[in-house]
Amino acid sequence: MNSEEIKALTGQYIMNTYGRFPVAIDHGRGARLYSPEGREYIDFTSGIGVSSLGYGNESWLKAISAQASKLGHASNLFYTEPAARLAQILCQRTGMSNVFFANGGGEANEGMIKLARKYSFDRYGQGRSTIITLVNSFHGRTITTLKATGQEVFHNYFFPFTEGFRYARANDPADLEAQAGDDVCAVMVELVQGEGGVLPLDQDYVQAVAKLCRERDWLLLVDEVQTGVGRTGSLFAFQQYGILPDVCSFAKGIAGGLPMSGIMAAEKCRDVLTPGTHATTFGANPICAAAGLAVQETLTDAFLAEVAEKGAYLRRKIEELDLPCFGRTRGMGLMIGIEVREGWTNKDLAARLIENGLLILTAGPGMRLLPPLAITCEEMDAGVAILKKTLG
Ligand SMILES: *Cc1c(COP(=O)(O)O)cnc(C)c1O
Repeated sequence: MNSEEIKALTGQYIMNTYGRFPVAIDHGRGARLYSPEGREYIDFTSGIGVSSLGYGNESWLKAISAQASKLGHASNLFYTEPAARLAQILCQRTGMSNVFFANGGGEANEGMIKLARKYSFDRYGQGRSTIITLVNSFHGRTITTLKATGQEVFHNYFFPFTEGFRYARANDPADLEAQAGDDVCAVMVELVQGEGGVLPLDQDYVQAVAKLCRERDWLLLVDEVQTGVGRTGSLFAFQQYGILPDVCSFAKGIAGGLPMSGIMAAEKCRDVLTPGTHATTFGANPICAAAGLAVQETLTDAFLAEVAEKGAYLRRKIEELDLPCFGRTRGMGLMIGIEVREGWTNKDLAARLIENGLLILTAGPGMRLLPPLAITCEEMDAGVAILKKTLG
């Protein structure tokens, strides 16, 4: 099929829930994607932070095809090796204690919310179930994670939403104190707000949140669905904040392009979820877990250091262009936000860049870059050249 046929078929048979760019993707190599007609794009999106190894990565392909030819799915009624090994590596590399595997970010956060409420219920009984989240956060699209999301635009249409969430301003310890109360069981944060606009939390603020959580026996829940698995230049962003969350969720990049997510619990929370309290049919799928193992093998400490260096390089190159439409850059590792100056809108800029062969994301009022972690300098330079040609 050509691009126009794919778009027409999609329009007819897939629910119209996405603001799609007018581009069909057929295949990829490295950090380059191609339309069915062979039109080339430099990819600064990695499928919204998912395809961390880029496209056509040999070890990832081998791991998936070897596992697919052995076993595609067995369910969690049985034991399978790939998920057990992946959980072991995640715990050994982070200091967390055990893992529950799920399938998407919102679903992982649901599990994290359930764990927090059950932890509190087990210790204190009912009435201590409120979770404080941050203004401008994003935690998912289920009825509960929409409500956990601290943006009013998401609290519409689907009433009644799950109760038990309050919102505190990011980087404002006093506002967190103001939201405290006997009903609180946890605080949930993204260390770099992703959808909200690539806004890293201050180190001091995160330390203050962690301290308050310890004092009140609130669980510190960290949503690393976007920041996790190498995106910020460490395996998890919390490792750069000097904290160990009570529970941490991950998803997007975990399996390098296959659907997988999960939560990791610290020692205090390892036995909160017990048989019958939480489950998923697809979770811990062996092919996804094998892909996750290939990702972990690639994400050595040296590779992660390179992610940090490449992020700094790309930010410097973009700032050096001194484009009239762009202000400062910000972010961590290869999670980069660019301020859009007054007089320009991020959606228009993205559309123009895509027309010129650069796939790019928006977040909040700015631009967002989530290139494959394996992107090369040559590929970054090719993307920067398109920025210059299109917006210079
Ligand atoms: C993408 C994202 C989610 C939702 O993940 P899905 O896989 O789309 O359900 C939740 N939290 C954060 C921080 C995200 O970036």
